[in-house]
Amino acid sequence: MSVDSVFRTRSLGVAAVGLPDQYADGKAAKVWQLYIGDTRSRTEEYKSWVVSLLKKQGVQKILDVACGTGVDSIMLVEEGFKVVSVDASDKMLKYALKERWERRKERAFDQWEIEEANWLTLTEDVQKPGDGFDAVICLGNSFAHLPDFKGDQSEQKLALQNIASMVRPGGILIIDHRNYDYILETGLAPQGKNIYYKSDLTQDISTSVLWVNNKPHMITLDYTVQVPHPVQNHPEVSKFRLSYYPHRLENFKAILSEAFHNKLEHSVYGDFKTYIPGQAEAPCYFIHVCKKTA
Ligand code: SAH
Repeated sequence: MSVDSVFRTRSLGVAAVGLPDQYADGKAAKVWQLYIGDTRSRTEEYKSWVVSLLKKQGVQKILDVACGTGVDSIMLVEEGFKVVSVDASDKMLKYALKERWERRKERAFDQWEIEEANWLTLTEDVQKPGDGFDAVICLGNSFAHLPDFKGDQSEQKLALQNIASMVRPGGILIIDHRNYDYILETGLAPQGKNIYYKSDLTQDISTSVLWVNNKPHMITLDYTVQVPHPVQNHPEVSKFRLSYYPHRLENFKAILSEAFHNKLEHSVYGDFKTYIPGQAEAPCYFIHVCKKTA
């Protein structure tokens, strides 16, 4: 079972949008900190795909709208991009700020901008440089953290519209989500290799789905993580629960298109490979690349 989610999950300090902090008891945070806390833990496959795509597009200035602890941003600052990193959770940003402080003698880190911002108020929270950023990223299954309390996806649409508005014409948005179609169809998360994080942590995920008006409204994942070398005060097995909005591929494509007023070139990748609908192996993640055409 892929382990990525554990490491993405400390997150969600969505207090800014008035939601409960799923991480308040700190269980996921402890597992993350103990075994992953290392920002160099993205796989080479992940890094080389993202970095080469950005370079091929001639990207210089990037907005990371869900930077969390800074896992992607740090990688991109190290690669020489100019990065502005935002997140709604000050608890998450704390780790990014710490890294910037510790590496402040490196010019690139000294220039790294980190701010608190919410997708729902992004246009007020972030100052757009000129026409916008060359690239905006929202990775690590982050967008699925935004629920749909009103049942009409209006908040998700507003958030995507705000995110898309930060991209300059000709620039790109890279945004991902887990393969919820597969999870909804099978009740299981795809078994493929974890392409996001390097880790030997083993885990089991059980899923439950909340349906509202015949539509999947929320997916709850219960994680059981085998901690390989337990240390004092940290048990051998750690359990925690997280909930996401289960974005379906076709619907997500449609709301992305709407966010760009249909002025986009849209490509979908499954685990960083061109996605062919109906392909034999179900990807764990869908990654959308949207190029703003006007
Ligand atoms: N990209 C990082 C973080 C993933 S966790 C990584 O891959 O590790 C998801 C992040 O989304 C969390 O840090 C959470 O605070 C942030 N987030 C959730 N809802 C948000 C919102 N409405 N506005 C801005 N950030 C939000």
